[in-house]
Amino acid sequence: MSFRATAFALVGVMSFRATTFALVGVMCALEARAGVRPDALPVSAPAPVSEPQAGADVLADMDPTNDFVVAPPDPIANCEEKLRAAGVTFAAAELPVKEGRGKRPTCGVEQAVVYQRGPAKLRYNSAPLLSCGMALGLARFEQVLTQEAERYFGQGVARVEQGGTYNCRKMARFNLVSEHAYANAIDIRSVTLKNGRKLKVLGGFGRIDAEPKGPEARFWRSLANRLFDEGAFSVVITPFYDGLHKDHIHLDEARYRADGSRPSG
Ligand SMILES: [Zn+2]
Repeated sequence: MSFRATAFALVGVMSFRATTFALVGVMCALEARAGVRPDALPVSAPAPVSEPQAGADVLADMDPTNDFVVAPPDPIANCEEKLRAAGVTFAAAELPVKEGRGKRPTCGVEQAVVYQRGPAKLRYNSAPLLSCGMALGLARFEQVLTQEAERYFGQGVARVEQGGTYNCRKMARFNLVSEHAYANAIDIRSVTLKNGRKLKVLGGFGRIDAEPKGPEARFWRSLANRLFDEGAFSVVITPFYDGLHKDHIHLDEARYRADGSRPSG
């Protein structure tokens, strides 16, 4: 069954945005935890899609007409020049696109880079291997992250723990490919402030059924809201989405938009 047919059969009269949101959640969840129960399919509707703030770099795909295209991201003109202009140092990488066959999905991306250093000079536990478009997003992430850390804790960030970028895997339930298959996604697990304090999504995000009590929960939620609202990423999925995302924030530059940065209501 095709993606389109699967999606519509699944959700019937639900809106496309809601459909996308549900499927994205499953994509990331399955990517993160192999063997998730397929009957755990979430179908909650997302919050209204927010418009990006004026003046912010919009990297998210805002074109609603290509939302059903399931394929590696299109090349970005002069992407490496844009990375340098954004203050990113990187190494060229090869992730050639390989057509899927059988259980193996189409994976890879035309423009891949190893992200070495960004504008805020954060250190990563492992140098992210990313599509060039995602590398641009990560540069924006560093800026927003620094601003939010200074706002809530009075200091910048030294280190980021990421939980994975490239992972060639087909979904178990749908004939779909996670954006991780294109190195077009990253999972953020924790950040460490310059004073050494580690802020983890797990536990730090706070109870999702209550208003945030302390600065840490406010920090994570504000960060996620801004990354979506300012168009740094097409997709932002947090613990608000489901229990499978309780320990990381998934960010990607898919062709569709999905806001998992706030309660779905
Ligand atoms: Zn993910």
